[in-house]
Amino acid sequence: MFCFRCRNKLVEKNGHLTCMAGDMALSTSMEESLLSRFLNANNSEAAVDMDKLSWYCPGCGETLKDFFCESCDVSLWDLRFQLIEYHPHKNSEGNYF
Ligand SMILES: [Zn+2]
Ligand SMILES: [Zn+2]
Repeated sequence: MFCFRCRNKLVEKNGHLTCMAGDMALSTSMEESLLSRFLNANNSEAAVDMDKLSWYCPGCGETLKDFFCESCDVSLWDLRFQLIEYHPHKNSEGNYF
């Protein structure tokens, strides 16, 4: 799984998928929502790119368009408030966004 904010690989930490670069742990409900959507998605490596307000597909690392991934044919539109409100993510300057 990839971080939807910075495209880094998410790692398991204290039982939660976590973006180490962004110091952001996924909530349990978000983790379940994403895992169920992307269980069979292709999990190849993606290039890391700290583009400020882009959102990335957790399944394949492609840039989302209106929270929709064309490669996976999966929409995260219904999760957008949870993604924005409950998942502050640290950027390269150490600020959360
Ligand atoms: Zn991240
Ligand atoms: Zn995708």
